[in-house]
Amino acid sequence: MSSIHSNLQAILAQLPATVKLVAVSKTKPVSIIQEAYQLGQRDFGENKVQELCNKQPLLPPDIRWHLIGHLQTNKVKYIAPFVHLIQSVDSLKLLSEINKQAGKNDRIINCLLQVYIASEETKFGLAKEELVELLQSPEYAAMKHIAIAGLMGMASNTTNTQQLHNEFKSLKTLFTEVKNSFFSNINTFKEISMGMSGDYLIAVEEGSTMIRVGSSLFGER
Ligand SMILES: *Cc1c(COP(=O)(O)O)cnc(C)c1O
Repeated sequence: MSSIHSNLQAILAQLPATVKLVAVSKTKPVSIIQEAYQLGQRDFGENKVQELCNKQPLLPPDIRWHLIGHLQTNKVKYIAPFVHLIQSVDSLKLLSEINKQAGKNDRIINCLLQVYIASEETKFGLAKEELVELLQSPEYAAMKHIAIAGLMGMASNTTNTQQLHNEFKSLKTLFTEVKNSFFSNINTFKEISMGMSGDYLIAVEEGSTMIRVGSSLFGER
């Protein structure tokens, strides 16, 4: 058995059936994605538009591509024709551009709003007040080509498990509040994307529905 095969089996064995694995393939070659695909993996995550656009045409069309890294508005047009889920929406301006480009492609693009949960200054994401402001804005209300599927967050880069539990808990709590306030009868608002190689078991304990795992699956970058 290849290491990707055994890594994939080991990770999937730990996940409840309700939690989806997004295989983070950034910096890894197409051959490795192909291998995971042949093992049944369909959801892959990339953090750079250029890299995603290079890889996508070389791989099977039924792969669900997730954009998980910071996205600049001027690059949305390159991924709009095919991206499955943009997980890193962190401004109304970016959401407006996604809506515009999705319209041009005659599709609805699924998005997650990235929320700032870490105690580190470097992580992107909306603060709670900004998230609420976005969802209350008339601009958002008028968007016809995006669907908000849930929230995404990145915890601090720490081995302090109590802190990780607290940060993931805060995202779950916020998800529930936002669900009740803005999406109470919208079934497609259901994803809490949280958990990476170092912390996905804790994230799953705290209610993650989608984990984004790279190095534990494909090896160190
Ligand atoms: C790289 C990355 C991951 C995966 O990180 P690993 O530690 O390799 O599992 C998850 N989410 C985001 C946003 C990333 O950029």
